Amino acid sequence: MSELEKIRELYKLLSPCYLCPLNCGAKRLKGEQGTCNSQVVPRISSYTLYKGEEPPVSGQNGSGAIFFSNCNLRCVYCQNYNFSQLGKGKDVSVLELSEIMMKLQSMNASNINLITATHFLPQSIAALRLARQKGLSLPIVLNTSGYESLEVLRLLEGFIDIYLTDFRYATDEEGIKYSGVPFVSTFTLSAIKEMLRQVGNITFDSKGIMKKGVIIRILVFPNGIENLRKILRIIKKEFSTDIYISLMSQYVPVYLAKNFPEISRKLIKYEILESIKVLREEGFKNGWVQYD
Ligand code: SF4
Repeated sequence: MSELEKIRELYKLLSPCYLCPLNCGAKRLKGEQGTCNSQVVPRISSYTLYKGEEPPVSGQNGSGAIFFSNCNLRCVYCQNYNFSQLGKGKDVSVLELSEIMMKLQSMNASNINLITATHFLPQSIAALRLARQKGLSLPIVLNTSGYESLEVLRLLEGFIDIYLTDFRYATDEEGIKYSGVPFVSTFTLSAIKEMLRQVGNITFDSKGIMKKGVIIRILVFPNGIENLRKILRIIKKEFSTDIYISLMSQYVPVYLAKNFPEISRKLIKYEILESIKVLREEGFKNGWVQYD
């Protein structure tokens, strides 16, 4: 399938919307909003050179991050709830989005990083194609919760070089409780399989900047060591211990987390150390630990 055909197929999934596993069927071209509160015009919170990603993704100058507003998940602890849940941001056209990508390239970004773009993927990929026609040559990162439709992911082949995906819950029940959506764990697993099929494990350029591949991010929750161990065992069983893991220990109980006593605090030092120990015990050697 050509690039144009893939973009056309993506747009067909936009209205009625079947872009994510919620398949809520909102007629977005007619002004309806789906569960993700999104209409048809992309909304972004900000764009910037961002140094908070994993070192080979940020590179020296920072990743060219575009933060999209709204989200198909309803995570009660979301650190970005101002724009992911409350929808703060600015509407931009596909043309403006492509210009932002070009601007980030002119600022020497290491890549273009689409942060939680699931609900705006047709528009983002159309913008990307436009930007490429104007000379965009950076690797493209899709930064995702992992709650992705397989049909949509397949259409991204050839557009996305790097997948940064969360794997948050060992079981689907926790996904319902904390993120308000069904089958998160199941969809994440099949999504990662497809991501690895497309881009394989990590490759770096001569300066150590990531060119292609998949990084799996695991957020460590308070009281979450067992969840972490189970996720690592799933990854080990389904893929391999060669996968790059980014252990995220910087959890902060913001937004609605106070309503869930077991996750209503930061990690204690013991949990951070224990999570690193579990990573090693399960045989994973590649990756990073983020503290803040
Ligand atoms: S992306 Fe939004 S509108 Fe589309 S299916 Fe998912 S929740 Fe519904």
